[in-house]
Amino acid sequence: MKKPNINWNEIDNVILDMDGTLLDLNFDNQFWLHHVPVCHARRHGISKQASLDIILPRMQKVRGSLDWYDIHYWSRELGLDILTLKQDLVNLIKIRPGVHEFLNALREQNKTVWLATNAHHETIPVKLDRTDLWSYFHQIISSSEVGFAKESTNFWYHVNKRHPFNPQKSVFIDDNLAVLRVAKRYGVRHLLAIGRPDLSGEELIQNEFPTVDHFHEITPLPNRP
Ligand SMILES: [Mg+2]
Repeated sequence: MKKPNINWNEIDNVILDMDGTLLDLNFDNQFWLHHVPVCHARRHGISKQASLDIILPRMQKVRGSLDWYDIHYWSRELGLDILTLKQDLVNLIKIRPGVHEFLNALREQNKTVWLATNAHHETIPVKLDRTDLWSYFHQIISSSEVGFAKESTNFWYHVNKRHPFNPQKSVFIDDNLAVLRVAKRYGVRHLLAIGRPDLSGEELIQNEFPTVDHFHEITPLPNRP
């Protein structure tokens, strides 16, 4: 897999995904593939497998769209209060190794740092409260507020309209290849993928984008006095 090689002198703007990039995707996998089916099964008096058989095709149908990321959509679809259920697993919300050091180094270098996430805007506080990451970001951008998922180039047009930035002087890091491809099409110059979005899961094997395995690989060195 390609290793990242960022010249930080060329970068003004650092745009970061949240789940699977700054945070371990294990929470989301456990939540959607275990906790939600179990609660759905309990509510409807069916087995977990029967519940998965109902939920997974529905997920497949809307994958990558705003609905897929919309907690209210899933609350309606499944008859569950998704936001409240997330509280059950908050102890699984974890920052990936090296993230604080990376974000501190960016701050030190006066980079503009944005969080750009497909997470619904109401779920962002659940993650950021738990991890104490709020203070690192100059902008927090949720696709639910932009009106387009990151899988659409419209997402980037609207972001640039609201918060003008130079894609040529930007780095964008995301664990979703479809999202990275769209950012490339839009013209974001420096694009990095994540080697293992779920730290308890499989490695993401690909050769399209340089891969971050640990944030220390790309953390800018401190400015010399
Ligand atoms: Mg992600």
